[in-house]
Amino acid sequence: MKEDKFCPHCGGKLKLFYLKQTCPHCGVNLLTYNMEARLEQDAQKAAAEVDALWNRLRRLDKARLIEKHYTKKGKPLPWESAEEQTPEA
Ligand SMILES: [Zn+2]
Repeated sequence: MKEDKFCPHCGGKLKLFYLKQTCPHCGVNLLTYNMEARLEQDAQKAAAEVDALWNRLRRLDKARLIEKHYTKKGKPLPWESAEEQTPEA
């Protein structure tokens, strides 16, 4: 069985049934070390998701502005004319 535990901080080997909170090698708190790392990952992930959402909203906003501008001038929308390549009669 591969049940060796290692300290997530210093990589020191821990006994299988090592039940103390702190690493015998570096003294880091094993119980909270993982938790903190996970919390930070969650926070980073959440921040990235918020960024992505804002970027999408900004792009939508821009698209709407362009749309307004083009319809005012009676021009075909740039993305429509690019997608529908119908030859003019
Ligand atoms: Zn350690």
